[in-house]
Amino acid sequence: MIFTRRTILRMGAAAGATALLPLRSFAAQTMTLGSATLDTLSDGNLVLPMGFVTDHPGAAEVMARYGITGPQVEPPCNVTLYRDGTNTVLFDVGAGPDFMPTAGKLHEALDALGVSADEITHVVFTHAHPDHLWGVLDEFDEPIFANAQHMMGKAEWDFWIDPETQNTIDEGRKTFAAGALRRMSMLEDRIVTFGDGEEILPGVGARASHGHTPGHMAFEVRQGNSACMVVGDAIGNNHLAFAEPLWASGSDQDAEMGAQTRLGLLNQLADAQMPMIGYHLPEGGIGRVERDGAAFRFATEV
Ligand SMILES: [Zn+2]
Repeated sequence: MIFTRRTILRMGAAAGATALLPLRSFAAQTMTLGSATLDTLSDGNLVLPMGFVTDHPGAAEVMARYGITGPQVEPPCNVTLYRDGTNTVLFDVGAGPDFMPTAGKLHEALDALGVSADEITHVVFTHAHPDHLWGVLDEFDEPIFANAQHMMGKAEWDFWIDPETQNTIDEGRKTFAAGALRRMSMLEDRIVTFGDGEEILPGVGARASHGHTPGHMAFEVRQGNSACMVVGDAIGNNHLAFAEPLWASGSDQDAEMGAQTRLGLLNQLADAQMPMIGYHLPEGGIGRVERDGAAFRFATEV
């Protein structure tokens, strides 16, 4: 396994104008698995109130250890690109233009890597929250990755495609439900659903990791003896999720199930010393789980 970290700098220029836009840097990571390649691409970042992470009374003390003391957090968003020579697979598609001004930058990152939307053969979703799904359609409501088969866990698909979910979901997530239903309705003729344990593509196994959402999936990507787990939001940050994995996270729709899922994955990844990619983890999101006493820490060197 070969692991490199690189930063791609790209100069943007307004169409038809000579004025240069500010530089945007893409912190991208690359990992090889056998003859295949995993890249992480930045979709930008979210800006969230601290209460969305946790309302645990001990949170401020833990966060301070990580240098986070303000009322909000700004988690990065890392889309994973997997290329094995046959398939070109995106895991999640970022937030698109309608969620937060700081996110929805995936296409700039793909451009910087020299990969066009038409080259994507498969789009695989961890779950259907806005920052993972809403980048799927263009301004005409057509799928941006026009040649791709789109894939989502069956439980996740069934939850968000049900119009009743908009009535039953908590108040703070009603926009999530409406946004997911609108976009997923446009994908109905091209979606393939799958279940826990299925090998959905050669070398890509689905792993049920429910709790963050009702049908959240992680993916074990394997080539021979080398493997990496794409965990999505099942391990949602590099601080509380590792230091206090059993504390309820405000971002998990079922906090208790989310905590058990998180702990199970952390134990498995630490025991196997298997690299992981976290959607909201720092520096491109590729790293490893290390034990830290009774808890864990995120090691950014694979
Ligand atoms: Zn997310």
